[in-house]
Amino acid sequence: MIKIKSPQQIEEMKIAGSLSKAALRRAGSLVRPGISTAEIDAAVEGFIRLHRGTPTFKGYGGFPGSICSSVNEQVVHGIPSPSVILQEGDIISIDTGATKDGWVGDNAWTFYVGSVSDEARALCECTRDCLKAGIEAAVPGNHLGDIGAAVQELAEGNGYGVVRDYVGHGVGRVMHEEPSVPNYGRRHHGVKLQVGMVIAIEPMITAGSWGTYVLPNRWTVVTDDGSLAAHYENTIAITKDGPVILTEDDGPWCSMEGGV
Ligand code: MG
Repeated sequence: MIKIKSPQQIEEMKIAGSLSKAALRRAGSLVRPGISTAEIDAAVEGFIRLHRGTPTFKGYGGFPGSICSSVNEQVVHGIPSPSVILQEGDIISIDTGATKDGWVGDNAWTFYVGSVSDEARALCECTRDCLKAGIEAAVPGNHLGDIGAAVQELAEGNGYGVVRDYVGHGVGRVMHEEPSVPNYGRRHHGVKLQVGMVIAIEPMITAGSWGTYVLPNRWTVVTDDGSLAAHYENTIAITKDGPVILTEDDGPWCSMEGGV
């Protein structure tokens, strides 16, 4: 069942969304050659807890980290580790979730480690455009298929692969609510979008095959051909005035102690 949020509840969700965004900015500020993903994870966990939030991912289904950190051919759900040291030229998707006042905010960004190849940069730029196109399609009266089609047409039109095995999702008091939000689809098909739906749109785009598999650690998803993958995500509310990004505003967190 899709849980419709009231305008008041959407306002409340902006708090969790802005904390999640601020945590993501904090993570991004630390990305550099030589840092481990465990160090970034610890900083993000500390940041979220400092602001009296809870890192949503920690312990979710047994996940050990507060961030997902997915490097290069890793698509999503990479486990932060002291042994994963970022190298010049890597790209890293960092996904942060914060629970605050009973609501969840979920977002992700793919960061460049130092200077990256033209191939990596082009993939990331296209994936950002895919996220933007998906959000723009999230208007009342459209269908979920319009979001998926907007992402898919842009990605495939640029010769990229669209991951099928992992999708966006509804967001609310828990991280994963109905509906699933695929990054592929047919226009005018699927669930009709209604005012009050809150969803995470998160294109996962590859430079090669869209096939994936999961590493033996049972979490980390990688491309099956070893090609690069990029991933961006925002939590958005569908309102009568169009899509509103809940993980956009940095809220009060920037100016507070420990802020970005
Ligand atoms: Mg998500």
